[in-house]
Amino acid sequence: MKEIKINLKNPYSVIVTSTNSHLNFWFEQKKVGQLFIITDQNVDSIYADYFRSFEQKIIGKYIIKPGEDSKRIEIILDIYRALLKNNVDRRCTLIAFGGGVVGDIAGFVASTYKRGTNLVYIPTTIISQTDSSVGGKNGFNLDGIKNIIGTFYQPNLVYIDVNLIKTLDYRNFKNGMAEVIKYGLSLDENLFRFIEENKRAIKEREIDKLKYIVSECVKLKAGIVERDELDLGERHILNFGHTIGHSVETMFDFNILHGEAVAIGMVYESYIALKRKLISEDIFDRLIKILEYFELPTNINIDNYKRFKDIICKDKKNVDNNIKIVLPQGIGRAIITTDVKADTIVQNIQEYN
Ligand code: NAD
Ligand code: ZN
Repeated sequence: MKEIKINLKNPYSVIVTSTNSHLNFWFEQKKVGQLFIITDQNVDSIYADYFRSFEQKIIGKYIIKPGEDSKRIEIILDIYRALLKNNVDRRCTLIAFGGGVVGDIAGFVASTYKRGTNLVYIPTTIISQTDSSVGGKNGFNLDGIKNIIGTFYQPNLVYIDVNLIKTLDYRNFKNGMAEVIKYGLSLDENLFRFIEENKRAIKEREIDKLKYIVSECVKLKAGIVERDELDLGERHILNFGHTIGHSVETMFDFNILHGEAVAIGMVYESYIALKRKLISEDIFDRLIKILEYFELPTNINIDNYKRFKDIICKDKKNVDNNIKIVLPQGIGRAIITTDVKADTIVQNIQEYN
């Protein structure tokens, strides 16, 4: 078991382990009393017994339909009503037991219900273990705009049991691997090399390898979040692959998974970096190879480049019409820049395709 401390105003721990048997200890440490669980139908059916030893503490459970469509205000309101009905008060702890969708919903509910209740994340996907459960961002979608409403709200504890990853379907598994590869290429050369050298064992989901990659990603994210909790500067570095990736998601109406779009985004953004001699051909090839090994897409057919450019220009992260983009600089380093024009991005994608 590994404990990674997140040193914010209210510090908390991220536990990385491969069993649920330390939960009891941590619940006692954190003086966790009554529990209200928020989960989704898939996780609930596979892990019906996960909290068996805490049965007497559980005062209610809300089960959402799996998928992004649940990240909307109607569901949030319905959860508030369920909490009221179950007499949930501020001493009670909400448990977010699921992937990023459950986490984003539960985090928002915890931050607003009675002006803030206790919150424990028990993330069950690679995306939620390495990314969404660390850093305090939560939220939901409105009128087709992703994550447009939300807060920053840090949990009391994040309990990561990598064994849960074993039941994830392959598409969601590799979807998460795209973000892990992102951490390696943009922030940590050793992690990138580890993924290359252990790709087969990772694909076979060997527990030790999963534990290693998840805890390395958590450490990387924790460090950045500690220095820039509110996403005002350095935290943007985590968006490597995301400027173009988000536009791909919008263009294809979210019929593509986030990690798949990020994989494509990483390739195009790295191609721009290659053109600027920030990375070598060799590094570019290594990125393509590792994405292909995990059967992630490395390009996408765009039939309307004008529309694609419009979407890029509308990205909510742009400042004064400048596109904010993260470009790799070698392996394990990246820069945030605003001097790449939308036209250049589109030209490079066209050239690469
Ligand atoms: P998800 O929560 O939709 O989970 C993916 C699928 O896997 C679902 O069908 C779910 O039921 C199933 N599942 C979950 N755990 C499982 C398990 N252990 N075994 C079998 N099936 C399981 O998606 P996700 O990829 O975890 O997260 C994506 C969401 O996270 C997006 O809404 C995104 O906006 C959000 N996100 C938020 C942040 C943040 O900082 N708040 C960061 C990254 C992503
Ligand atoms: Zn992402």
